[in-house]
Amino acid sequence: MSNEIVDFHAHAFPDALAARAVGQLEHGGGVKAFLDGRVSSLLASMDGAGIGTSVICSIATKPEQFEPIMKWSKQIASPRIVPFPSIHPRSPDPVGQARQVAEAGFAGIKLHPYYQDFNIDDEALFPLYRALDELGLILVCHTGFDFAFPRERKADPVRVLRVVERVPSLKLVTSHMGAWDDWDEVGKYLIGKPITMDISLSLDLLGRERAREMLLSHPADRVLFGTDSPWGSQPETVQALRALELGEEREQRLLGKNARGLLEA
Ligand SMILES: [Zn+2]
Repeated sequence: MSNEIVDFHAHAFPDALAARAVGQLEHGGGVKAFLDGRVSSLLASMDGAGIGTSVICSIATKPEQFEPIMKWSKQIASPRIVPFPSIHPRSPDPVGQARQVAEAGFAGIKLHPYYQDFNIDDEALFPLYRALDELGLILVCHTGFDFAFPRERKADPVRVLRVVERVPSLKLVTSHMGAWDDWDEVGKYLIGKPITMDISLSLDLLGRERAREMLLSHPADRVLFGTDSPWGSQPETVQALRALELGEEREQRLLGKNARGLLEA
């Protein structure tokens, strides 16, 4: 998979739940999905977009969902599908669950401050962050606002910096270009710093010039390709990214090289 594109931020659901889950999320967020939420549909989309591998970011909206998400993640794992299970911060033993995730061979987990109702710099989260760091697990964390929720600052760039200052070696991936729809703050606090971000659901909103300026001002090894599929279109995001004309070296890093480095470390 040496030159393949890696989508570091995608979603899918078990076949039996996909229709209901996508329907509920479409309704809650006032958005339309590009796919039906099944893994098979994601794979077909990947084929069409020239994407070799997708990281599937699950979200445990209740502590009890840890086990079923783990079980399903083990079933769907393949060279092209890299599942990131999810730990609920209010689970009775988040640190023990992080250990289980590492023992099962997964590369990381996903947290979502809105669906899991926490602020990313809450004191209660730090034991989990330290455990992830010690286990070498990647943390993909939703950052910025979320279109399905009120605009509370649960995961903004200032809070991102508080996490990074206290656990500097944590392999943190901030979603949506540092913080969704909070890009003035991203420019002020994160751009140019050693903070890893994915580009999902940001290029259209930022527009070509602004997206380009932000990406060219950020360390080339700190940006990952991501689509938030099914909420973003994989082929359209690949096209939009290429249209930025970031230069071959930077583009190759962003589309796959950085992601492979993280996943294979
Ligand atoms: Zn997402």
